[in-house]
Amino acid sequence: MTQALPVLICGAGIGGAALARALSRVGIPCRLFERAPVLHEVGSGLGVTMNGVRALGHIGLDERVREIGAPIEHAEFSSRTGRSLSRTSMRDVAPGAAESNFVMHRADLHGALLDALPGGIVSTGAEGVGFDEGSEGVILHLKSGLEVHGSMLVGADGLHSAVRRQLHGPEPLRYSGQTCYRGIARMPPVIPGVLREVQGRGRRVGICPLDRERIYWWAAINAPEDSRDDPLQRRARILEDFAGWPFDFPEMVRRTPVDAILRNDLVDRGPRSRWGRDRVTLLGDAAHPMLPNLGQGACTAIEDAVVLARCLAVHAEDRRKGLRAYEREREQRTSAVIRDSWIFGVAARWERAGAVRIRELALRLTPGSLQRRQMRFYMEYDTGPLPVASVR
Ligand SMILES: Cc1cc2nc3c(=O)[nH]c(=O)nc-3n(C[C@H](O)[C@H](O)[C@H](O)COP(=O)(O)OP(=O)(O)OC[C@H]3O[C@@H](n4cnc5c(N)ncnc54)[C@H](O)[C@@H]3O)c2cc1C
Repeated sequence: MTQALPVLICGAGIGGAALARALSRVGIPCRLFERAPVLHEVGSGLGVTMNGVRALGHIGLDERVREIGAPIEHAEFSSRTGRSLSRTSMRDVAPGAAESNFVMHRADLHGALLDALPGGIVSTGAEGVGFDEGSEGVILHLKSGLEVHGSMLVGADGLHSAVRRQLHGPEPLRYSGQTCYRGIARMPPVIPGVLREVQGRGRRVGICPLDRERIYWWAAINAPEDSRDDPLQRRARILEDFAGWPFDFPEMVRRTPVDAILRNDLVDRGPRSRWGRDRVTLLGDAAHPMLPNLGQGACTAIEDAVVLARCLAVHAEDRRKGLRAYEREREQRTSAVIRDSWIFGVAARWERAGAVRIRELALRLTPGSLQRRQMRFYMEYDTGPLPVASVR
């Protein structure tokens, strides 16, 4: 009886929307509940690496991503003075990598996922506040007072997940020591195809062409946790902190609308080995929030979606087994990415001149083969396809 009830997905971000798309491809009914009153354009730029593009391919969206994304051909680290410390050609990382890493607007990816869903399955203004489990299914309680019955519940409700809180109780976030500003500048990129990170003393910037007329940038600065600011003063603050930085960075900031600069403290949670129980599980940031240092948060959420849909399709006789198989399959990889993203961020925070010199030397001396091997670990991962017989 419960098989006929839909899978309930709490949160229609990148991960929730990808899961709904994957489930619809294997013929499993689902419903998405999103707290926001409208699914408007939010976010800034987003890197989607080859593993994320491959996972999107398994849900029939890789071509769309190639249309909306700007290819990344090289990744380069530079010093505060603009000196190149390491440069990696995607071509050398893995076969196909030169054509399969992209930067795009988050809203374009989100829009592509939502456009690919069957009509009528997304409810907006629908905040999940709790759930009840029974032998026959689950009930999701919405803030409005409505109760929705489903066969399973997936918490895809992001960093501050309400589903996770009910499952595991309150857990503190882990602050990295840096806060991050993001924006999109209206100016043509000087060198297309290069994803650049410039590291200074306790601060760094990332620069990525988005298309012929726009550049996505981010700037991370050592700062106390939860420090408040006036959003309209952000541009002035960044211009002051990054005065004289190379690659025309201050000009990018000046060419970004003053009210369109986002800010987030960079936080994660340590890996947890148990994600869900019985008919409930977690996906994406709700399950494994990670620092964005390796650009893998959205990519791993999309991977989760494909693996979860596959496991539920394979375990059609008892989908609770599918949930546990999914958790087992995903826990190890996502824990490794949380760990590596955290480690990367430690050296990026260094402020003392001597420590920064050591970091720069290490970057210059690290063999390219080692850097490429690390990148391959992320990029070559393949979730595997959805079961052929059921793909729609
Ligand atoms: C500065 C920065 C840069 C980043 N850069 C990259 C990058 O380059 N590449 C990459 O792969 N990742 C990147 N990420 C990470 C990426 O944005 C996230 O990992 C990704 O968005 C996670 O997707 P999600 O669907 O799990 O969560 P979200 O995208 O946060 O979606 C959660 C959704 O659930 C909704 N919601 C929340 N609570 C409820 C509720 N109670 N009921 C109903 N709905 C609810 C929210 O409104 C939202 O729509 C970056 C993150 C940051 C902070």
